[in-house]
Amino acid sequence: MVDTKKVVIIGCGNVGMSYAYALLNQKTYVNELCLIDLNKERVEGEVMDLNHCLAFSPSTMKIEVGDYPCCKDADLIVIAAGANQKPGETRLDLLKKNASIFKGIIDNVMASGFNGIFMIATNPVDIMTYITQKYSGLPHHKVIGTGTSLDTARLRYLIGDKLKVDPANVHGYVIGEHGDSEFVPWSNVNVGLQKISDFLYEDDMKKIAEEVKNAAYEIINKKGATYYGIGMTLVKLTNAILGNEHAIAVVSNYDETNDVYVGLPAVLDGSGVSRKIFFDLNKEEEKKLQNSIDIIKENIKDLF
Ligand code: NAD
Repeated sequence: MVDTKKVVIIGCGNVGMSYAYALLNQKTYVNELCLIDLNKERVEGEVMDLNHCLAFSPSTMKIEVGDYPCCKDADLIVIAAGANQKPGETRLDLLKKNASIFKGIIDNVMASGFNGIFMIATNPVDIMTYITQKYSGLPHHKVIGTGTSLDTARLRYLIGDKLKVDPANVHGYVIGEHGDSEFVPWSNVNVGLQKISDFLYEDDMKKIAEEVKNAAYEIINKKGATYYGIGMTLVKLTNAILGNEHAIAVVSNYDETNDVYVGLPAVLDGSGVSRKIFFDLNKEEEKKLQNSIDIIKENIKDLF
């Protein structure tokens, strides 16, 4: 018998469709894909277009227009529905709009009998993940946000580009809020096995961290939205979960001490977040992480 892995995408705009297209371009564990959006006609068009890729895709997939009942037997639901940043807007500016959209979405999903894993991409992602867990009542380890995974990919690319090293061999993370208070704990960044301080001066590190933090603003100013990077990030996280890969990623996961979801490294497998990865921060980095957590906390305090 074929082991079917079903993914439902809710929100089929730039991000949702970049993810779907990236899935089709790789060998993945997904063999059933169901698309839901308020704009039904657009989804019909997207499904037709995606199905026309299948003859050339390395994956075998059943792709269809969905509605909430199709969430019932989904292994993974990826939510990318809601408003995106307009030029000049921060991710936190989206909170009010997206929080009210999520109430309806999560209620509908849970009414289907869904008991799989949620992966949230909608911004502000740490808070939208927290909201999803509250509304769904699912255990924390089954509700995950993309966190600072994309920011980390941007960091690895920039370091790799500067040092002429494959980004796959740059090891380090952006942590904290996926937003303006995120930061790079440089004391934990390595190229191969060598410390980053053997390669970069502090000024270079500052410049790279700023570039990472401002990447979304720059892309939005130039082309209106960011989507390919997060599309690939979502595929990586999907494979980690559906392939039971035990892969480490820096996702929004639940921090019991502070009662927030925040971007920190964790092991992902078929159960969702199977465990956290602990690592040492210096005093200054600890302060930055707490500041980031406090900003997230401040923004959720009036929601529940
Ligand atoms: P978009 O406007 O292109 O798409 C949003 C889609 O959501 C639209 O198709 C819309 O019809 C749909 N939608 C709205 N309300 C809905 C509802 N109630 N039910 C179902 N569908 C609904 O926006 P986008 O560029 O795809 O961005 C989507 C989200 O992803 C934004 O919040 C954006 O900030 C976020 N994003 C996150 C990251 C990340 O790293 N996590 C990166 C890029 C974008």
